[in-house]
Formats: sequence, structure tokens, C-alpha cells
Amino acid sequence: MAPVILVTNDDGVHAPGLRALAAALETLGQVYVVAPEREQSVVGHALTLHRPLRVDRLDERRFAVNGTPSDCVNLGVLGLVPEAPVLVVAGINHGSNLGDDVTYSGTVSAAVEGTLLGVTSMAVSQADPDGGSFEAAALVARLVATRVLGEGLPARTMLNVNVPREPPRGMRVTRLGRRTYAEKVVQEMDPRGRPYYWIGGGQPLWEEDEASDIAAVQQGFVSLTPLGLDLTHYGALGRMVEWEAGLSALLRPRAP
Ligand code: MN
Repeated sequence: MAPVILVTNDDGVHAPGLRALAAALETLGQVYVVAPEREQSVVGHALTLHRPLRVDRLDERRFAVNGTPSDCVNLGVLGLVPEAPVLVVAGINHGSNLGDDVTYSGTVSAAVEGTLLGVTSMAVSQADPDGGSFEAAALVARLVATRVLGEGLPARTMLNVNVPREPPRGMRVTRLGRRTYAEKVVQEMDPRGRPYYWIGGGQPLWEEDEASDIAAVQQGFVSLTPLGLDLTHYGALGRMVEWEAGLSALLRPRAP
């Protein structure tokens, strides 16, 4: 029996990037698609806990869910797919997921969810491709997935893959780049004279860093970034230990 690979995305079950990814991975295992019924970009790691999820079986191994990408992975790994997947792959996202922006990404969060559930996981994104072709990214996804299946990833670590707009010059292993927030909130007035706001407008600006995922993709390379799920800052942890006694003393009621 071929190993099961779970494929999801945040652009919706009908997105061309998802189709290209599922097709590319067919040679590596039995591909199950469990994906949101409509676009869920930039929903981050949200789970739907306050209403029931409905699943629409589109064909034997393709399911549409009225939920988030992380819902889809949770459902897929914990019950919907008959056999435990050996790999979760999210994508191919329409648009890159680089640097600090990965924290907003539904695509990356789907791979985070897979990793939390103990399944080796990766996210694949393509900078808006010319002519909408996902051919290069699909090939990259298959090559990297093959390597990941062969070698595995460290515990609690996922892989974030970004493919440049033009045919890639090669692959680079990178670290996350850092975003600089320069844009302002846009405030306008609605027809009833009440203000409304747009956030997240404008082009993102990035700190200069040759070793970053952003630099790699800008220079035409595929970027592979291993992401650890442990967000603890161990340096700060060491330095803050002395806060314990001081803050604890303040917490205790004083003697009159
Ligand atoms: Mn998306």
C-alpha cells in the first residue's frame, strides 16, 4: 500500500496551485486532498471550534471543508483520511510566504498543524507566476518532498518552500527575513460619514539580509527554510529567571 500524503492549501479546493501540487505528488504516494471550500488566505493558524464543520466529498480522495487550512489538516490527520498520512504538504500557494509574513499564512499554518500532530509537513508557495503556471513549483514540491520523505525532518520542525516567479536558478537553504512596517493605516470615510480603515496596504519592505528567504527568491532561487515550532527564546529565558523572585515577592500579600 502506497504511503498516504495529505494535501491542503488556503486558496481553496478549486485553486490551480492545489491541483498542480496534488498531481505532482501522485508518484510519491496516495494523495488525499482535504482543503477549504473557499479561499482562506491570511487566516493564520485559526481552528473552527464554535460551529460544526461540514465535509463535501468531491471525489474518492478529494474533500472540501467549510473551515480553515488548519481545520483541514486536523480533520485529515485525525480521522477523515483512512490511513495516517506520512506527509502533509500545503500549497502551492498563489503568492510567496516569506519572512515575518509566515506568521499570518494559512498555508504555513497548515504545515504547522501537521507538525503539531506529529506528521512531517511542508508548505510550498510560488511568487505570483507569469501566466499562472505552477509547473516549476510542482516540480520543486516533488523533488523536495522526495528528499523529506527519505531523510525526514527534525522533531517539531517544518519546511517552508518558496519558488521564484521565473524558472529557478537553483535552491538555497535560508533563514526567515524580517519585515519593516513602513506603511500607515489608511482611513477613509464611508457614505454615511463614518470612518473605515484598511490595514496591510502597500508593498512590504524587508531588512537587507543576504542569507534570508527573501533575498534567495528575489535572486531567482528556490528558498528552503526549516521552521522550528518552539517559539521560546532561550537567551531571554536565561536572563529572566531572576524576574521570578522579584515578581513573586510583589504578588505575596504584605504583612500589615
Ligand atoms: Mn493563499
